[in-house]
Amino acid sequence: MQKPTICMICGAKPANRTCAICGRVVCEDHIDSTGVCTACRRRKSEEFRKDMLK
Ligand SMILES: [Zn+2]
Ligand SMILES: [Zn+2]
Repeated sequence: MQKPTICMICGAKPANRTCAICGRVVCEDHIDSTGVCTACRRRKSEEFRKDMLK
């Protein structure tokens, strides 16, 4: 019997998407329209902020 894949971010909802950057399987609440999970998106925005401070 196969278990449903659970979102690797919230661990609660069934995952039906895969992040284009880290390959994590996530639910639709934790992926944006570009196919990037919220964890990667947050990291990207932090890098962007550092660039802005230069
Ligand atoms: Zn989730
Ligand atoms: Zn990701």
